[in-house]
Amino acid sequence: MQLVRQKGKFGSRRYGPVGVAVSALLAAAVASGCAGGAADGPDRGQPASPAAGREAQAGHAGPAPAAGARAEGLKRKQAARAVAAKKWGLAETPLAAPEPPAKKPRLTTREGFEVKGGEDLPPVFTTVPTEDRVVFLTMDDGSEKDPELLRMMTELDIPYSAFLSDYVVRDDYGYFEEMQKSGVVLGNHTLTHPYLPGLSADEQREEICGEQDRMEERFGKRPTLFRPPYGNYNGDTLRIAKSCGIEAVPLWAAEAFPGRMEWRERDQDLHPGDIILTHFRGEAEWGGSMADMIRTVMKTVTGKGYAVARLEDYV
Ligand SMILES: [Zn+2]
Repeated sequence: MQLVRQKGKFGSRRYGPVGVAVSALLAAAVASGCAGGAADGPDRGQPASPAAGREAQAGHAGPAPAAGARAEGLKRKQAARAVAAKKWGLAETPLAAPEPPAKKPRLTTREGFEVKGGEDLPPVFTTVPTEDRVVFLTMDDGSEKDPELLRMMTELDIPYSAFLSDYVVRDDYGYFEEMQKSGVVLGNHTLTHPYLPGLSADEQREEICGEQDRMEERFGKRPTLFRPPYGNYNGDTLRIAKSCGIEAVPLWAAEAFPGRMEWRERDQDLHPGDIILTHFRGEAEWGGSMADMIRTVMKTVTGKGYAVARLEDYV
């Protein structure tokens, strides 16, 4: 039982304040030239940078200095990731995402997910159209506020997006402020997590636009991404969401738990651009920690040759 072994080895109390040990290890790794590391072997983790490629072709005999510096930076980042991956007990070093697309893909609503007369409404999708070998990680609700998660994700440099529901967030907005400071974009998941199609339009407006207002007030930004609780919505939901600033409605193609994945698609697999859902939960709710869940999802994602990219770079 992988999960049990990992829990013993990487229990949540084990890690003290971040930084010092990892920085020292990293400095040693970089200095000794073992960037890329034994953990992930040669040639893993560096999709070619399209920008670097363009610069290299722009009339220089070799890579332009800027491209060289960028490659060096990427190498160093990946070395840091290899060190963090070992520290946090990941099966492999997470792959580096390619450069964000110069132009975001055009999003459309997934077939079968349309609402009547919804042509001009925010698109509802489970996968972002891209040929990049990337997937996106999203975390919902907000009840579990595990400080270890923030340290882990920062050290691993894995992007994710959080969809917050105020009723479980409001006892500690500070936790999510810290998350936001680390670069995570916060999205709207309603005030109290109701089944929206069961509510009147006015009630839905209160839930969706009320959360927009709350998030603007607390986090200084009005979300542009909205995820309806349970993935359930109707035409009112999308019209109302649009009216208070929502531009897109990302659902999910797979869901991650500690020790297992659940799939939406019949082939039970990941695909380029797939959105992965998980939740802010802990031992009490799912018998594993957030760190256990991240180890599971990253084992799957990296094992299948995908990098986690930033959803907001594509949507
Ligand atoms: Zn939820």
